[in-house]
Amino acid sequence: MRYRPPSIVQHLNALQAAHGWLPPDALNTLARAINVPLHRIEGVASFYPHYRRTPPVAHRVEVCRDLSCAMAGAAASLAALKAAAAEHEARTGERVEVAEASCLGRCDRAPAALAHHQVLRGPAELQAWLEHRHVPEHMSPRTYRLDPYTDPAQRYAAVRAIAAGGAAAEVRAIAELKAAGLRGMGGAGFPTAIKWSTVRGTPGDEKFVICNADESEPGTFKDREIKAALPHLVWEGMLIAAKVVGATRAMVYIRHEYEAERQVMAAEMARITDLAHALGVTLEIFVSPGGYIMGEETALLEALEDRRGEPRNKPPFPGIAGLFGLPTLINNVETLAAAAAILARSFATTDATPTDATPGADWWRSEGVRGYHGLKFISISGDVEHPGVHEVPTGTTIAELIALAGGLSAGRSLAAILPGGASSSFIPASAVDTPLDFEFLKRAGSSLGSGAVIIIGSGRDLLELGLNVTRFFRNESCGKCVPCRVGSQKAVELLELVLAGQAAPGVPALLHALDQTMAQTSICGLGQVALTPAISVLDRFPEALAAHPPRRPSLRDRA
Ligand code: SF4
Repeated sequence: MRYRPPSIVQHLNALQAAHGWLPPDALNTLARAINVPLHRIEGVASFYPHYRRTPPVAHRVEVCRDLSCAMAGAAASLAALKAAAAEHEARTGERVEVAEASCLGRCDRAPAALAHHQVLRGPAELQAWLEHRHVPEHMSPRTYRLDPYTDPAQRYAAVRAIAAGGAAAEVRAIAELKAAGLRGMGGAGFPTAIKWSTVRGTPGDEKFVICNADESEPGTFKDREIKAALPHLVWEGMLIAAKVVGATRAMVYIRHEYEAERQVMAAEMARITDLAHALGVTLEIFVSPGGYIMGEETALLEALEDRRGEPRNKPPFPGIAGLFGLPTLINNVETLAAAAAILARSFATTDATPTDATPGADWWRSEGVRGYHGLKFISISGDVEHPGVHEVPTGTTIAELIALAGGLSAGRSLAAILPGGASSSFIPASAVDTPLDFEFLKRAGSSLGSGAVIIIGSGRDLLELGLNVTRFFRNESCGKCVPCRVGSQKAVELLELVLAGQAAPGVPALLHALDQTMAQTSICGLGQVALTPAISVLDRFPEALAAHPPRRPSLRDRA
């Protein structure tokens, strides 16, 4: 099957943008217009959280409830925002709906809220926005070591050189990435050169390159910064990848909450239309209809094929059978930018003829510290003075990263670290000198994950934080497989009992068994790691459990 632009999702996005919701009449009209049964359209519309099925009020404010925002007082912020909304409505008659939402990717502005694509922090900013419809963004232009182009006129030199060099240059590009040891930066850490080689070597009538720009894991917002600051590197990485694997279409799949970054990416795409055309690659941006699970690469493909975003069974992997069953390269934003940065150091400074030299890989490897290689964008949030994104040499320790973020929040000492986003394990404060590296963090019993470090200060209830993360995965489960759908809800109920001091003594063991069952039987990573953070609290922080002693066993418990 050849590529067909998604019609249902794109039309639903357009209806949502035009009306603020999906009116039933409009869905009927759409069904007739695109000759698709209404039940198919309803099936898609009912899956994605971005689509409203009831008329909107004048303003809707979404308040993040997930880990970094919860730590920063999301519950109090929600109550204050609701009070401000009620006051505004009483005074003006204008309705303001305030609702909880999953991670908005603004952990650096926790507790974060979003209204009409505007980030708001607290009731004062809501009031300012309702009065003036504008709150100044706190963005500062930054430069990054990753960017090889000090002169904007030089941008895209690498892809031009590789295109001019033909097959020999394409093979050399893969060799360069292999020598660099570049790994996927979205969480899995899969070697980039192997992924590119697989798609290059797989025959297909058509091939695709997809930039997964749908980061949605609590604590993770580094790709937002890369899209805003280095859009040319992301697009160049995609164009190079397309030439190397033989793709004719390259698209960015971006979450709908990142409207400002979408605009930056779209402006850059418009600037390079002629270049892309000359290279024989069609570029586009696809706005996700929402949901954390859409960051899972096969769920993303389902959305692009106009279906409910439920992950596929693997294998086959997308490199072999991806979009419409055709070979598809899916890389994360940071991975593509890093690939472009490496290859620019090689191809933009030397000619593209075959050579054993690997200047790009040599540069990349020289950027690490303590024997590690490369650069890494890390988002840091939680109990630090200045949450934000930092570009650091791989091998930088967590302690050094905390120092870059201005140190621990006033009055707190370090209690624990969640080093790789919400799906990683909590590690103790004694691990603060651990280098930020895939392998080292694995040996430390956690993972580098999505490049999100969340710092936990003293005075926090770790069990409560573990419950918060478990709730996030429960909320975001697509429901396709029973162990994840039912197991995540059961885990939340059990953890709530533990926190309330009402759990039977055997509940922690039950949670361990549930974790193992879900890890072994869930289709995708969400169900496989949903309990990982909570289990790490039970295993590594006995004092957290001791703070919530179980109720006395009853005769029924003993039976
Ligand atoms: Fe969906 Fe969970 Fe199954 Fe993944 S593990 S496919 S999120 S139900």
